[in-house]
Amino acid sequence: MRALLDLLLPPHCPGCGLEGPVLCDRCSQPLRRRLHEPPGAPLGLPVALPHGLVQLEWCATYNGPVRHALHAFKYRGERRLSEPLAEALAARWRQAGRGGDLVTWVPVHPSRRRERGFDQAEELARRMARLLERPVHACLQRRQRTVAQHGLGEADRADNIADAFVVAANVAGLVAGRWIVVVDDIVTTGATLSGCADALLRAGALAVSAVAVARDR
Ligand SMILES: [Zn+2]
Repeated sequence: MRALLDLLLPPHCPGCGLEGPVLCDRCSQPLRRRLHEPPGAPLGLPVALPHGLVQLEWCATYNGPVRHALHAFKYRGERRLSEPLAEALAARWRQAGRGGDLVTWVPVHPSRRRERGFDQAEELARRMARLLERPVHACLQRRQRTVAQHGLGEADRADNIADAFVVAANVAGLVAGRWIVVVDDIVTTGATLSGCADALLRAGALAVSAVAVARDR
């Protein structure tokens, strides 16, 4: 199917427009730039670990070709990009990740999933887990559509997110006692990941780490 799709609709690199590769070699370089950096935040960056997480890793800064690639993946439905993006996640986690015995993801709203036809973080998480040969499972659900974040103060904003996720009763047994790795496409303040971590810890998770393709700051 993939070969047929490539034949009929050849991909164009979202970074530079080159026809052929889903993301060309030059434009995928930023995804590997942090690969050999030690775990955690680079020196000089004011990034506190978001509440609830024991580790947060990411592959690249959210700009340039990485930004274009994530945009094409999420909003233009170019799902073939999940391959290089998940490879970058797996490579970074293999290099810097500590522990973690179950992979999950930050779920999009069900309504957005219906519009888009897929959940971008789920695709990344499933593919990353396959590459790392770790189990993957849908652990988190969005509880309700969060109130628009803008217009809220920082504390209210954190509360708004913290209440947004829940671990479904039928997977609580799976989460209890596990060290969970939460995958997302972009991390900004980390409040969303903290909301996920809170829900997982409430359900009895041992610890929660996170890895994202890009960090926006
Ligand atoms: Zn390119």
